[in-house]
Amino acid sequence: MITRSVARWQAELGQALGEVAELLATLGLPQDLAVQPGPAFGLRVPRAFVARMAYGDPLDPLLRQVLPLVAEQQPAAGFTRDPVGDLRAVHAPGVLRKYAGRALLVVTGACPVHCRYCFRRGFPYGDVQATRGRLAAAIEHLGADPSIAEVVLSGGDPLTLPDARLRTLVARIEAIPHVRRLRVHTRMPVVLPARVDDALVSWLAATRLRTVVVIHANHPNELDEAVAEAVQRLASAGATLLNQSVLLRGVNDDGPTLARLSERLFEIGVLPYYLHQLDRVEGAAHFEVDDARAGALLAELRSLLPGYLVPRLVREEPGMPYKTPLP
Ligand SMILES: *Cc1c(COP(=O)(O)O)cnc(C)c1O
Ligand code: SF4
Repeated sequence: MITRSVARWQAELGQALGEVAELLATLGLPQDLAVQPGPAFGLRVPRAFVARMAYGDPLDPLLRQVLPLVAEQQPAAGFTRDPVGDLRAVHAPGVLRKYAGRALLVVTGACPVHCRYCFRRGFPYGDVQATRGRLAAAIEHLGADPSIAEVVLSGGDPLTLPDARLRTLVARIEAIPHVRRLRVHTRMPVVLPARVDDALVSWLAATRLRTVVVIHANHPNELDEAVAEAVQRLASAGATLLNQSVLLRGVNDDGPTLARLSERLFEIGVLPYYLHQLDRVEGAAHFEVDDARAGALLAELRSLLPGYLVPRLVREEPGMPYKTPLP
């Protein structure tokens, strides 16, 4: 008989909050602050993340990232379901190709947290992702193109998959001689740091590929001691650690906050990589910061920080061969 034990992180993930009413009650906030989200992209937030929110503060920057507001149900011109042209970039099941030398593998649609601004919030994962059954075709595609030096595991959040599956997946990628780098795009170390356990660290440390883990934090309050330890464990496995953020109105759209985010990231061993201008996905219009303001914030950051702590401000434009830098 095979018994499968549930790791601590899986138990924590199972206990993530899924009810708006419970989240508001936990934080001592009035029930009319939020709306019921549609079933396709419900509320989801791990308790470890809720614990970093301030009690009784409706404007808490962590809360704003996950709380469904009435604003997201109002239509906004120019905001669409597939703002970055993902569907046109699918080359094989789960394989998105937009940039030279890199292929992005959508391995799951699941996320530990539902970020209300997410550009893939309307993504048809069921049709596109490289599920177990379709993985062979994805691997075959990667193997057939010697220009692919880097594979990016994405989703959803790839670290929602159990380690046994990740280990097998990485073994198959590793078997492709021309692939040299493995990148993991994940919010797990930030929202559910228990995910970075011994099993994860062991497969990560064992691969012949150079590994890069790109975490996703938008505000310095997200980076508590548990996150610092998780990141340290990833570094001990040999991973290069980078962070990407999204510029979000009401969350991190001011210079001192972004400067503190960069300082805190560096303190825990992570370099700021991208600061993304919002992708114009349906339901996220209330987070948008205009380009003039974004540019001014970046100039302010340059004046506050050493150059290596200033993230690259970019926007993803469909059809461009790289993420477009904003001045
Ligand atoms: C963002 C993205 C990448 C990674 O781009 P970098 O500029 O190398 O960080 C790779 N593939 C796809 C499809 C992407 O959207
Ligand atoms: S963790 Fe990433 S993919 Fe998942 S909802 Fe948040 S932004 Fe989207």
